[in-house]
Amino acid sequence: MKTENKILLILDLDETLIHATRSELHKKPDFVYADYNVYIRPNLKWFLECIHQHFKIAIWSSADDIYVEDIVDKIKPDSVDFEFVWGRSRCTTKRNFELDEYVHEKRLKKIKNQGFLLEKALIVDDSPEKTRDNFGNVIYIAPFKGEMPDDSLLNLHEYLMTIKEVENVRKIEKRGWENRTSNNN
Ligand SMILES: [Mg+2]
Repeated sequence: MKTENKILLILDLDETLIHATRSELHKKPDFVYADYNVYIRPNLKWFLECIHQHFKIAIWSSADDIYVEDIVDKIKPDSVDFEFVWGRSRCTTKRNFELDEYVHEKRLKKIKNQGFLLEKALIVDDSPEKTRDNFGNVIYIAPFKGEMPDDSLLNLHEYLMTIKEVENVRKIEKRGWENRTSNNN
């Protein structure tokens, strides 16, 4: 497949690829960052190494830019390159008056401005409220809070393999994707 035809997979960080917490869970963390214990979602390295052969990969988190860069340095396999690594400064901050809090939204217009096609871009995220502007481009994943076992990345890999050559990702039904993999239970 030609590189330019590959779908861009934009991965969220917290609760999608890792879980960072100040408390100690049932097991030792994979690494410690500042005062956070960081737990890596099972199969992450394998997932990234497999998937990068078929997709372009990027990271977009709504966390602090420096945190995002530092965490990505720790989890990025040597053989995998990311198209971009973005943090909060690339998000659009909106106030939710009902909840009286700020939401950092990921708006795909920003990647369009970088020359990526929206028909060829998928966000993988555990937070619907951060991606609601582009629901047609989102694969929701169950949040990872450090619990084991966790087969989500195995399942996601299987699902992604079935859609890697889709011409327009916005035209396919992505809700309930977990039920279309053999690993679901
Ligand atoms: Mg998240």
